[in-house]
Amino acid sequence: MLIVMNKNSATEEIDNVIAAIEERGYTARPIPGGDRVSIGVLYNKGHVDPSLFGSLPGVREVIPVTKPYKLVSREIKPEDTIIKIGDVSIGNGFLTIMAGPCAVESEEQAITIGRHVKKAGAQFFRGGAFKPRTSPYSFQGLGEEGLKIMAEVRAETGLKIVTEVLDADKFDLVEEYADIVQIGTRNMQNFSLLRRAGKAKKPILLKRGMSATVDEWLMAAEYIMEGGNSDVILCERGVRTFVRHSRNTLDLSAVPVVKKESHLPIIVDPSHAAGFRDQVSPLARAAVAADANGLIVEVHHQPEKAVSDGSQSLYPEQFEVLCEQIRAIFDIFNQ
Ligand code: PEP
Ligand code: MN
Repeated sequence: MLIVMNKNSATEEIDNVIAAIEERGYTARPIPGGDRVSIGVLYNKGHVDPSLFGSLPGVREVIPVTKPYKLVSREIKPEDTIIKIGDVSIGNGFLTIMAGPCAVESEEQAITIGRHVKKAGAQFFRGGAFKPRTSPYSFQGLGEEGLKIMAEVRAETGLKIVTEVLDADKFDLVEEYADIVQIGTRNMQNFSLLRRAGKAKKPILLKRGMSATVDEWLMAAEYIMEGGNSDVILCERGVRTFVRHSRNTLDLSAVPVVKKESHLPIIVDPSHAAGFRDQVSPLARAAVAADANGLIVEVHHQPEKAVSDGSQSLYPEQFEVLCEQIRAIFDIFNQ
């Protein structure tokens, strides 16, 4: 349930509503945004009688929330969430481009690619320091050294850093270096990691589980928001299907569905969806046309030598062309 206060409601009126909610054993969660305060009622088991709150001073209306997810839902917050990281905004009206190698391999590799993607127009450098690999014998990432290299890329290029955290143990470390902390597809329902992300001071990029429904994905985002972190960016990265012509199947219909259900920004990863370089740019263009708020794309200057995901990494020149194209597509819908 959502309690919407009048535009100029007094602090005492808001406090009074919160006290009334808590007195009944529920949790009150004031929700920022817009020009008036709303208060979410959480942890109610079963129906809550709206008349308990509807007549309290300063209350404008009481709206029942019909979805299992609450804080992520548009019923609770009708206006789009815009996440600000320094001078970069992510969300409706902005096109956010994150790009870089699958894994950070060396200082020279990361800085070379960082310079290329910056020139093409990316605002974020993506790179893995802790890699979730299918085989324990595959390259697992440079760990903290990789994070340090990304801090150098940031200092050198001005790009902000997005990088994955694999477990709660390493969260403090990753959060110290990252501008956005990524939770990967394999961890979308790692609930202890989601709870730690809820306490983070940095925004979270939450990838869709490879066989998760949109509802399960939004419930995972709910864990993070419930913990107190409202800066969540969703990322569609393809789901597992029977097809063999691509690594995963990019579910572009998730973009309008998520935008209808949630106020959170959603970006698309065409690289892990495709698995093959020649599919990446068409999928990326389609994602922007489908109104995604941005892209995260793997780029490598020597993909044939890459330690991971070389076959799906764009050459810098291809990425540059793609950036021009997606800006043109974005402008058609956002003039
Ligand atoms: C990644 O972005 O490096 C990655 C491993 O992606 P995903 O979790 O979508 O497989
Ligand atoms: Mn990868």
